[in-house]
Amino acid sequence: MLIDYSDYKLRQREYLLRISRAMTSRLELKSLLRLILSGAADMLDGEAGLIILKEDGTFHIKASYGVSPELLRFFEPFLVDIPSPSGGVSGWSLPDLEMRLNLVSAAAGIPLRQVIALPLIAEGEFLGVIYIFRTTSLAFSENDRQVLASFADQAAIAVRNVRLYQQVLREKQRLNAIIENSADGVMILDPRGRIQVFNKAMANLTGWDPKDAIGKPCWEVLRLRDAQGNQLCKENCPFLSPSDSDSPLYVEGDIYRGDEKRITVGITYSHLFDEEGRLTNIIANVRDITHIREAEEMKSTFISAISHELKTPVAIIKGYASTLRREDARWDEETLRESLAIIEEESDRLSRLIDNLLEASRIQAGGLKLEIGDVWIPRVAEKVVSSYSRQSKLHHFEVAFPPDFPVILADEERIREVLENLVSNAIKYSPQGGTIWIGGWAEPDKVVVYVADQGIGIPEEEQERIFERFYRVESPLKRRTKGVGLGLYICKAIIEAHGGKIWVESKPGKGAKFIFSLPRQEVGVP
Ligand code: ATP
Ligand code: MG
Repeated sequence: MLIDYSDYKLRQREYLLRISRAMTSRLELKSLLRLILSGAADMLDGEAGLIILKEDGTFHIKASYGVSPELLRFFEPFLVDIPSPSGGVSGWSLPDLEMRLNLVSAAAGIPLRQVIALPLIAEGEFLGVIYIFRTTSLAFSENDRQVLASFADQAAIAVRNVRLYQQVLREKQRLNAIIENSADGVMILDPRGRIQVFNKAMANLTGWDPKDAIGKPCWEVLRLRDAQGNQLCKENCPFLSPSDSDSPLYVEGDIYRGDEKRITVGITYSHLFDEEGRLTNIIANVRDITHIREAEEMKSTFISAISHELKTPVAIIKGYASTLRREDARWDEETLRESLAIIEEESDRLSRLIDNLLEASRIQAGGLKLEIGDVWIPRVAEKVVSSYSRQSKLHHFEVAFPPDFPVILADEERIREVLENLVSNAIKYSPQGGTIWIGGWAEPDKVVVYVADQGIGIPEEEQERIFERFYRVESPLKRRTKGVGLGLYICKAIIEAHGGKIWVESKPGKGAKFIFSLPRQEVGVP
């Protein structure tokens, strides 16, 4: 057979051109490898071909030509014991090639006579092997080998490109997932401040749906304000000042979710530049620092409230004591008794305040430890009422427990504290006087206790907040009554430490009823 080499070269070039064109179009790897394989088979006068690739250490057939799919399983001998081409393509050969060929052609029942194999190597990495088979006895020449090498190169480049692309895609997905699931809000902006990326935490913080936020200027979405309510965005945009744009910029301000819930945020803006130094993106990292701001506010409230609350009883005690000990005065029996009663009362108040402070700091430190014993709440209630009824002539107390009210397992001292706080509130917040009821009942699994008054009551929207630390309802009475807002916080912590619940039922002007339940681990009736 006479071969026209110029035509041969032309055909080879055409194939390679078609392959490289296919590579740039988005052809999937499998069809691309098939195209390479059929080109190579045609150029080499082969009837069949295989491309095998290494995945997780073992070889798999990734493309075949001229072999029907149900016969592919017989090609196993071409997938095993494949040496790595440590010395490059030229020094590589597959051992026992003839034996493998005989095994396959006998098992598959195809008369394969000749085989040529070349490794696929891209940038030093061994990716797989390309095989071409002939059914004729004409052996593959050195020229065939060289032609196949150019097809092998193309296949190696294709595999490597696809793998790199998949790796980049995976990295991108990983990065997106990190941004999306970051606990802090993350916004990526274009140089004009338009939002390109808006993660889940950002959506939670601002209440904006990412679909609506993307594409909008960031100031329209953030509307950052300072503590005085002045707009910080747009006109005073913090990140558009290019002078100090190479170090991250930190800004604190308030944003409003749904126009009402104020959230204090700390935003770090980092600028991203391309190689020419042009600004490409601004990354805004938005952190909710509301709790830090609240803690700061709370600290100052605490200090001012405490110092006032501590000073007042001390001043009263000192005032009465120094008046009584004046040597130039004689006090009658009644004045003496009244003054000493006031001193006693103020000392009690002072010691209760100190108790509350200690208890609150213990709760805060997570160290509320209960001393569990038998407690009969009706008796504790009687004791609390008898000490308070001496203090208030305006109020009338009614204690009502059924006689078979059970003894429960609880910390008696702590339960007394709860009742003291509730009764002291009932007195404080019913300045016109009236009846204060204390009572309870038993249910199969719990006991329920209440303290009710006829005082000023509590608006619905405040009923949850009053159990927070230092929270006091804003009213004219607040300024006139003493208190720091710790009583109910402590009550709630104590009741919850017992596994119970505390809540309030009230309407403004109609009195308040505080109710708590405690799990019943009955130990008999006294
Ligand atoms: P403290 O108990 O620390 O001396 P306080 O009484 O103000 O101060 P809490 O007992 O925690 O604090 O009560 C919180 C707020 O709940 C009160 O400031 C008051 O506004 C409201 N409150 C509590 N009990 C009643 C009540 N019985 N009637 C009306 N308002 C109440
Ligand atoms: Mg109180």
